Amino acid sequence: MRRLAPYAVDSAASAGRRHPEPLAEGRSEFQRDRDRVIHSSAFRRLEYKTQVFVNHEGDLFRTRLTHSIEVAQLTRSIARRLDLDEDLAEAIALAHDLGHTPFGHAGQDALNECMRGYGGFEHNLQSLRVVDILEERYGAFDGLNLTFETREGILKHCQPDIAVTLGEVGRRFIDGTQPSLEAQITNLADEIAYNNHDIDDGLRSGLISVDQLEQVPLFKRHFDEACTLFPAAGERRRVNETIRRMINTLVSDLVGTTAAALASVGPRHIDDVRQAPALVAHSDSVSHESLVLKRFLRDNLYQHYRVQRMSAKGRRVVADLFAAFMGDPRLLPPQYQAKADVDRARAVADYISGMTDRYAMREHRRLFAIEDI
Ligand code: MG
Repeated sequence: MRRLAPYAVDSAASAGRRHPEPLAEGRSEFQRDRDRVIHSSAFRRLEYKTQVFVNHEGDLFRTRLTHSIEVAQLTRSIARRLDLDEDLAEAIALAHDLGHTPFGHAGQDALNECMRGYGGFEHNLQSLRVVDILEERYGAFDGLNLTFETREGILKHCQPDIAVTLGEVGRRFIDGTQPSLEAQITNLADEIAYNNHDIDDGLRSGLISVDQLEQVPLFKRHFDEACTLFPAAGERRRVNETIRRMINTLVSDLVGTTAAALASVGPRHIDDVRQAPALVAHSDSVSHESLVLKRFLRDNLYQHYRVQRMSAKGRRVVADLFAAFMGDPRLLPPQYQAKADVDRARAVADYISGMTDRYAMREHRRLFAIEDI
């Protein structure tokens, strides 16, 4: 077996599961977490949830599922290069977006707005809720009963007033300590994945162009290299050659900068990692370049009028569904009606956030389109 670094999480020393279970035969506890995530229904639903483009807009665009798989691939390869636990990193990456609403960030913002006064809605916190409570796969407990380390990695950020209600997994937001390096790399791999695939999807959709992207230094220097190496290649191949180079640069920079930080701080145990400042980072120059790219995507892709129209529609669907179910919980499916008796707003938010884009649109038609009765 590969030897892990002393600062990696040791699966044999895991802080364990909320409901104790005997160890699995032939699998580490983190492999088991990863397998539980893959078999969950929330994971399968990611296939029909928007990343930036709504699923039916085109077959080649990323969905939350392909995004999560790309994040897992990057996280795993970074973990391997830093001698961290790849299975833990992969489990966190595959689970990180399980709590996402339909219609991407527009859906999350709309649901959060609806839940104002009822404790709010945050997709990151909802991912933890999915694995802790909402999945129904076991006879003995709710949720997937994942290890502390995977749950800690899923909860990327949290306000202190909510963190106090979450027990051990929320403690670091009160104490100001760090999560494992495996969790820290997943966070940055998420950014590397979406910045790059959003360029790809943005170009494919025609909403942004290579000409525009040439204002972005990180893109331009790799595009120039691809054009010099492959002068006869068509634009699609040049773009693909550019994106793979960008990903490579970002990953290598992350690994190099983090390895240098590890060498200088010298953590000897996961506890040292928790007490140190965040150790996983890009170099200053690459951080800056990546910020310029992010701004470009925000101004030219996420705020593009065609993306905005889709987002506005998604927000309206979410708000309409919420109002309808809150006004009359008898419209909810029976299992959610029972939950609504305990906490109506939370039951409605759980139901809506679990919907895929197309299911939400179908529910909207069922509730609001008279001719569909
Ligand atoms: Mg993500």
